[in-house]
Amino acid sequence: MKEDIFRRIANNLIVTYGTNDPFKLAKYLNIQVLYLDFKSWLGMFSNINGVRTIFINNNLSKVSQIVVCDHELGHSFQPFKESVFMKEKFLFENNRIEAEANIFAATLIFSRDIDEAELTETDKMLLRNLEKYKLY
Ligand SMILES: [Zn+2]
Repeated sequence: MKEDIFRRIANNLIVTYGTNDPFKLAKYLNIQVLYLDFKSWLGMFSNINGVRTIFINNNLSKVSQIVVCDHELGHSFQPFKESVFMKEKFLFENNRIEAEANIFAATLIFSRDIDEAELTETDKMLLRNLEKYKLY
């Protein structure tokens, strides 16, 4: 199954770089991460002429920022033929592009220890939706 490739890529990154932190991985992969004061978008991913950038909503909690960065990092491994600029209102649209990013994100996020007591409602919603991609 094609989606399995994204689980494998995520696991390979964890082994190769010795971290499941998407912010550190982005740095190793030479992907810029920027924080913006978005109103309704969780984040964005752009690849303009090979320059890849992850945008994170700076109003989100720490855990949600990690989830969004995990997801956007997944998009960076998709072979887009042209420049892309993806705005993310909700990360779980039912299509292959989003499913691949979510399988990648689920692999990274569920390899971490998450303190359930500290989670916001948005964190819980994101994690609940990502659960579905654990064994896709
Ligand atoms: Zn996405």
